[in-house]
Amino acid sequence: MPDNRSSHAPRIAIVGAGIGGLCLAACLRRIGVRADVFEQAPRFARIGAGIMLAPNAVNILNAIGVREHLEPTSVTLTTLQNRAWDSGEPMFDLELGAAAEQRYGAPFLLAHRGDLHAALLRVVPPEAIHPGRELVGICPLDDRVELRFADGSAGSFDAVIGADGVHSVVRRSLFTTSPPSFTGRIAYRAVFDSALLADRGLAPEVGPSTKWWGPDRHIVIYYVSGGAEVYFTTSVPDDTWTTESWSAEGSMDELRAEFEGFHPQVQAVLAACPRVNKWALYDRDPLPGWSTGRVALLGDAAHPMTPFMAQGAATSMEDAAVLSRCLGEAGPENFATAFAWYESVRQQRTARIQAISRSNTWLRERTDPSEVYGYDAWSVPFGDSAGLESSLT
Ligand SMILES: Cc1cc2nc3c(=O)[nH]c(=O)nc-3n(C[C@H](O)[C@H](O)[C@H](O)COP(=O)(O)OP(=O)(O)OC[C@H]3O[C@@H](n4cnc5c(N)ncnc54)[C@H](O)[C@@H]3O)c2cc1C
Repeated sequence: MPDNRSSHAPRIAIVGAGIGGLCLAACLRRIGVRADVFEQAPRFARIGAGIMLAPNAVNILNAIGVREHLEPTSVTLTTLQNRAWDSGEPMFDLELGAAAEQRYGAPFLLAHRGDLHAALLRVVPPEAIHPGRELVGICPLDDRVELRFADGSAGSFDAVIGADGVHSVVRRSLFTTSPPSFTGRIAYRAVFDSALLADRGLAPEVGPSTKWWGPDRHIVIYYVSGGAEVYFTTSVPDDTWTTESWSAEGSMDELRAEFEGFHPQVQAVLAACPRVNKWALYDRDPLPGWSTGRVALLGDAAHPMTPFMAQGAATSMEDAAVLSRCLGEAGPENFATAFAWYESVRQQRTARIQAISRSNTWLRERTDPSEVYGYDAWSVPFGDSAGLESSLT
């Protein structure tokens, strides 16, 4: 790839066209800054998973024009229900719906992950996205950053943002990390046709999401795709499977055995489900820093977290919004300042969310979620620590 950096328009590379990378490209477009997005996958597949999009995420999707593309296929969450695993006794119900929209300025949406990704792709011009480009090397220099890709191509950029996910090459190459610790737990997940539930006479309301809390495991079940599909994800103890992967297949028989004795509604969902994937759950400590000169990390690359709080994608979107604001304020050539502001605004909040996610206690009992759902990435102050504190209290 030729070095076609121009003295006028800075060349910015985003590594990874996942949720955070695409969101950042869209946020940068909002301030008139173009970025090239390099993605290792040769094409985008529809990964069978649901995603909870709390108001702090939907506020960002709204501002970049994604919500309108997503809403026709998503479900507006009415109630986050928490139930005892066997009796189904209510533990805590968080009412959302119109009340959440009024309080936080956006609804809480439940979506198919593929629909979210497709909606993000609609607001980033195709010519800015480069699939089939796996980053294998990064070399920051005083006046630029050199990137090398697995296909033999290379590029030179004024700044690089590593949005390359939980196994980030950018993080591994340039930042201090401690090794991940395997939690000894597995997240099984599946999306399937909700007609299969109706066939079993099970037709609960589409609006709520229910987390069934067992003594050492849980399952979360909700509808996506406007109610046409149902999704569940679990956490179960299992120290024999250690692969963090979106594509690994699990056994339905093993999964059903894991949830024997759970409420009949849970068992009916598992009985109807034709196939399942599994993902080994790892825990990682917050990084001591995630920006240096012309390079910064974003999303799972910066603050990978267990999925128990459903805030991984949301915090990557918050990163994108705040980073775009920092670049806009510092001036697009002033990367070191912008990245330092970005890191200082985001680090404390994301470390706190990592810690709450790790404990898997979020919303199990009566909780005011305003600290998380009410965060407004478009107005949180940066560049002054007082503003940072006030954003977290
Ligand atoms: C089971 C499960 C359920 C979850 N549920 C929720 C939820 O309900 N709500 C929520 O907010 N979060 C949820 N999360 C977390 C959420 O999926 C992640 O936090 C989110 O995807 C992070 O976005 P990202 O852009 O940082 O990474 P990703 O979306 O993973 O994107 C990273 C991208 O980088 C690409 N890439 C990687 N390496 C390279 C390379 N070397 N070169 C080029 N490209 C590369 C990848 O192919 C990928 O496209 C869940 C996670 C799991 C595992």
